[in-house]
Amino acid sequence: MISSELTANEQGHLLIGKVDATELAQTYGTPLVVYDVGQIRQQIHAFQQSFAQTGLHYQISYASKAFATVAMYQVIAAEGLHADVVSGGELYTALHAGFPADHLSFHGNNKTRAELEMAVENHVGVIILDNFHEVDLLKRILQERSATTKVMLRLTPGISAHTHRYTQTGQVDSKFGFDVDSGQATRALQEVLAIPQMQLIGIHAHIGSQIFGVAGFDLLVKKLVSIAADWQEQFNVTLPILNLGGGFGITYTQEDTAIAPAEFIQHIAATLKTATTERHLPLPEIWIEPGRAIVGPAGYNLYTVGSRKDIPNLASYLSVDGGMGDNIRPALYQAKYEAVVANKLNAPQQETVHLAGKYCESGDILVDQLALPRTEPGDLIAMLDTGAYGYSMASNYNRNPRPAVVFVEQGQAKLVVRRETYADLIRLDEPYQ
Ligand SMILES: *Cc1c(COP(=O)(O)O)cnc(C)c1O
Repeated sequence: MISSELTANEQGHLLIGKVDATELAQTYGTPLVVYDVGQIRQQIHAFQQSFAQTGLHYQISYASKAFATVAMYQVIAAEGLHADVVSGGELYTALHAGFPADHLSFHGNNKTRAELEMAVENHVGVIILDNFHEVDLLKRILQERSATTKVMLRLTPGISAHTHRYTQTGQVDSKFGFDVDSGQATRALQEVLAIPQMQLIGIHAHIGSQIFGVAGFDLLVKKLVSIAADWQEQFNVTLPILNLGGGFGITYTQEDTAIAPAEFIQHIAATLKTATTERHLPLPEIWIEPGRAIVGPAGYNLYTVGSRKDIPNLASYLSVDGGMGDNIRPALYQAKYEAVVANKLNAPQQETVHLAGKYCESGDILVDQLALPRTEPGDLIAMLDTGAYGYSMASNYNRNPRPAVVFVEQGQAKLVVRRETYADLIRLDEPYQ
């Protein structure tokens, strides 16, 4: 939700899911992470309706690393989505939330033996195989238990999305997946076909994150269809599912031009139909794995204004009570965000400041150039579109407790993650003497 789309009440206070942001700050304290659950549902419905219009068989799997808590898995399950997990911890959280295990996809470039055992024992829906070590390890685990599992092969298709280097994943030089061009992928296929405990249900690729163009997905669909057709001819293997990964971009600032789910899905469907017709393949089921697009726009980080430093004729630093511990993306990726004064939403902008966090790093700047009305200590800052990879990457740097998380929907607020306490911070510490 960028600043031009926000709504205020008569006092000029920002409303989130029809709840006054200043009341949330008073009730739960700051820094505070707030999700507008109605907006999460809307975004999910937009993907579902877009697919429904294409007539394709499809599955949407929420990439839960974007924001993974018990309450979030419950919302995802209630909306009928699948979910991706990438660690034993995410798997544990999903299972604890009552998420159906057979709707989970397990990803990762270095799943441990313990994690794979946990996945097999809990009958996770599909394990996405990433490398030869994992094929071997999983094979032994399945043989020891006389168990079976569904698998997909993660491929690196040699397509790179135009995005930050750290969020590119589909190019040949990547730590993820089996390389296609060098023949690794075909070798992996042959290995998996020779393991009766593994049922290969499809191939997967994820080309990057915060993608704004349809071109990358067009190329990906063509590439995966061509691989599926080649394998059908050479090995007589049918792949029922093509999994296109996630990466659908969102609008953080006016510089971003996000594409609506409908446009992505229509392109994907059209390209798929042409490509499969050319190669005489039946239409496969299409899976996608959006993370950011589902939770990003629905998230708000609320901070209280504290100190300020004015350097004459140079710059002003306005500091808030959170920072890189609850949102590391600006420091990690130079990520840009919009922010507003939530208790003065309609006040005219009067100055430009560096919005600084409270952490002991010069790089802890949340927004580099932020136009704001004049502020005073105690004012409430709302940083917008913070729902993806913010809380999920939060840390206790400087021994700051991680913030609370609140879900709001239709005028109601519900605490879904308690604020950490100082006692929580030393919970795992043991004395030395
Ligand atoms: C991170 C990731 C996603 C989600 O990416 P978004 O940019 O959040 O949509 C999907 N699939 C895989 C395999 C990922 O690693």
